[in-house]
Amino acid sequence: MAEPTRQKMSLTTQIMIAMVGGVILGVIFNQIGSDFIANYITGGVLAMLGTMFVNALKMLVVPLVFFSLICGVTGIGDIRILGRVGGKSFVLYLMTTAIAIALAILIAQIIAPGQGFVMEGVDTSGVTAKEAPTVWNVFAAIVPTNPVAAFANGEMLQIIFYTIVLGVAVLMLGEASAPFVAGCEYMNDVMMKIVAIVMAFAPIGVFCLITKTFAEQGIDLFIPVLAYVVTLVGALLLHLFITLMIILKVFSGLNPITFLKKIRPAQIFAFSTASSNATIPVTLRCVTQRMGANNSVASFCVPFGATINMDGTAIMQGVATVFLSNVYGIDLGVGGYLTVIAMAVLASIGTAGVPGVGLVMLTMVLGQVGLPIEGIALILGVDRLMDMIRTAVNISGDAVVSVIVAKGEGKLDMAVYNDPAAGEVGDDLGIDPNAETQLAAQHCNH
Ligand code: ASP
Repeated sequence: MAEPTRQKMSLTTQIMIAMVGGVILGVIFNQIGSDFIANYITGGVLAMLGTMFVNALKMLVVPLVFFSLICGVTGIGDIRILGRVGGKSFVLYLMTTAIAIALAILIAQIIAPGQGFVMEGVDTSGVTAKEAPTVWNVFAAIVPTNPVAAFANGEMLQIIFYTIVLGVAVLMLGEASAPFVAGCEYMNDVMMKIVAIVMAFAPIGVFCLITKTFAEQGIDLFIPVLAYVVTLVGALLLHLFITLMIILKVFSGLNPITFLKKIRPAQIFAFSTASSNATIPVTLRCVTQRMGANNSVASFCVPFGATINMDGTAIMQGVATVFLSNVYGIDLGVGGYLTVIAMAVLASIGTAGVPGVGLVMLTMVLGQVGLPIEGIALILGVDRLMDMIRTAVNISGDAVVSVIVAKGEGKLDMAVYNDPAAGEVGDDLGIDPNAETQLAAQHCNH
């Protein structure tokens, strides 16, 4: 009698179960509050596995961006098209960020969180302001003085700049570049394979990260600033599900529901790691293999967006500024809010998508409009969780712009976009069963 075939759960389902399980266990651990759990479980084994997983993702970012972008530039083959893709995505990224923060300020004005708040017993030590970068410095810093240092430090804009220059030079050399391009294409495939391998461990990694975070975050932290949290989460969800989806539909005509389904793994990774940068490999994978955007566009738009586009972070700046202006009873006026919008957009260009960077940006914004920086202490306690949610919104914005640009350039495969199963990481990781034998045989023949 034939064995009944058992339907295996998809990786996304497994990751989602891991996430929900992590939340539940984390909250239980938090309620138990034992030192043993804190030292050996959440702060021990879970922290170790979670960090290993995030490190594994980060390990992929720089080589993946390099190889896929080289392939992207040489794949486009025309420097003018490259300029157009760059220009379009830059304008769209700035536009979505500006809309995000304007929306956030509007919603926060209506809900008015922080009115009547009494600032007592809040530890404001350790909150220091950071100088806002000037527009000139932000742009000047895009050109690296030492590309090796840029790669070593993961300076994304500098890496993108250098790689594009290199790609253009490779193009200009024509035929002579063929072996190099073939090598990069091969390395790009290898890197994508490693992404699939790392993703296979995602259920464990996500479970550890989420359990640890929720075990460490007490619910009581939220009570005093509940109005802030509710306004912020509301604005984030509104931007994700309404604004971004309208932008997607209007600019590309693509189905938003399909988009939301296919971007889910990247959102979960962003939520678990609170880092757009660490999520680049997964976002890139979702945008190319699940949604059908050609690598020539995605390899540029996704890492570019992870660095310069932060819709969720901008929303946080907007809500936090209104919240603190209410707490301190300082009216910023229209001019003040316009400054906040301009500052948040500018700050998002110059800062990398790493955990907690939103708070650093907020110090710049507050300093610029004359609100007390110490106010940040109020929202510090809840920021980790807010960071996780806004990072998921950040990478969704990156993906929306990437597919819009790809569609506009005729570089989006609609058959892939509309295929629900396209690009799912299978249980077998797509390993060719004969691969090893073939390679070994080739080796022997030489
Ligand atoms: N963690 C966010 C990101 O990586 C940035 C932030 O808002 O702190 O996109």
